[in-house]
Amino acid sequence: MEQVSASLEVNNQSEGFARDLAAIEALNLPRAGAIPLNAARKPRLSLLDYDLPELTELVKELGFPAFRAKQIWGWLYQNFAVEYSEMSNVPKALLQKLAELAPLAPLEVVIEKVAGDGQTRKVLFRLADGAEIESVLMLYPDRATVCVSTQAGCAMGCTFCATGQLGLFRNLQAGEIVQQVLHFERYLSYIPDPSAMGHKRVSNLVFMGMGEPLANYVNLWKSIRRFHDPVGLNMGARKMTVSTVGLVPMIRRFAEEDLPVNLAISLHAANDTLRSSMLPVNNRFPVADLIQACRDYIDKSNRRVSFEYTLVEGQNDSPAAARELGRLLHGMLCHVNLIPMNPVPGSKQRGSTGEQVKAFQAELDQFGIPNSVRFEKGRDIQAACGQLKVEKDATELKRAAKVARDNSNNG
Ligand code: SF4
Repeated sequence: MEQVSASLEVNNQSEGFARDLAAIEALNLPRAGAIPLNAARKPRLSLLDYDLPELTELVKELGFPAFRAKQIWGWLYQNFAVEYSEMSNVPKALLQKLAELAPLAPLEVVIEKVAGDGQTRKVLFRLADGAEIESVLMLYPDRATVCVSTQAGCAMGCTFCATGQLGLFRNLQAGEIVQQVLHFERYLSYIPDPSAMGHKRVSNLVFMGMGEPLANYVNLWKSIRRFHDPVGLNMGARKMTVSTVGLVPMIRRFAEEDLPVNLAISLHAANDTLRSSMLPVNNRFPVADLIQACRDYIDKSNRRVSFEYTLVEGQNDSPAAARELGRLLHGMLCHVNLIPMNPVPGSKQRGSTGEQVKAFQAELDQFGIPNSVRFEKGRDIQAACGQLKVEKDATELKRAAKVARDNSNNG
């Protein structure tokens, strides 16, 4: 195979993968139990890991004119091609060389579930090395939002989250983040679906799927730039929201970025005792440090921060907890999203009732904190992060146990 410098460049960028994992280790998080941190895994490059200048270099080094790169780019980002064979105006010789060097590696759909109302579509994807991730398309009258995964699994171990039970398998490459969105772009563009509410394109992105986005910082931003790029998906930066459990040094780095991408913080509790019991990361970055980083971010960017607050019955949903939250956030340029928890398989925790949610909101209103209640879409299809994967693994385990039992009975 030809050695070309463009692919080395992309490889160098994917060193961000190793660097980010080292950064996670350096954070010295008090991970819940024996959560595996699988730093050794590194996926193969795909064509979607290349930016346009890198692809142009690659095409030239393979002996073809630069305009071929633009043609290929159009096939990827305007036509959402998933096979080289679709690129009908590109010489076969070039496509063959590219396929050897950087396969397209579209995500393989393992499970696809559509909610009863047709407006939430959740997919469990298998990556080229067998890792599995989830993405969700949520349709509203005014927007089509994709919830994107940035890691396969997660090291953060939040107690209310199905993905937190899995541990971290590996960080995703930028191309693997991009592909999740391209999958739904293709779906909305090509499949006439009356339940798609007339949406032809993905309009908004939330980085709230599997994983902690700021723990995969390099590839996160590489994908954001691709989504934002006028010759990529041309999506406004304000249409994208990155959610974090509160990796303080990364929030400070985020504040330095030039694109006004929204920042959301998974807060869920306003004091250290309660927050640490729900989010082990709080032992490393306590509430006061996190809120200070958010205040500094607002000062620097003049942008509002969203706080996500999952309401878990009997745990963090009392009026006293609401008052504590109100005092903590008083005077900040922020918005609080209250989210009654989706049930997680194997967990006894439940979401707050409608009455409890209203009482919590009323307390927050007293402090003048802008807030709204967000019900997770697609409860009937396990749309919360990691649920599909956890349920699939549990089903496979049961099936394997049954086969083992049957074999031993027959033997
Ligand atoms: S809530 Fe987010 S950060 Fe926490 S375990 Fe789940 S995926 Fe990871």
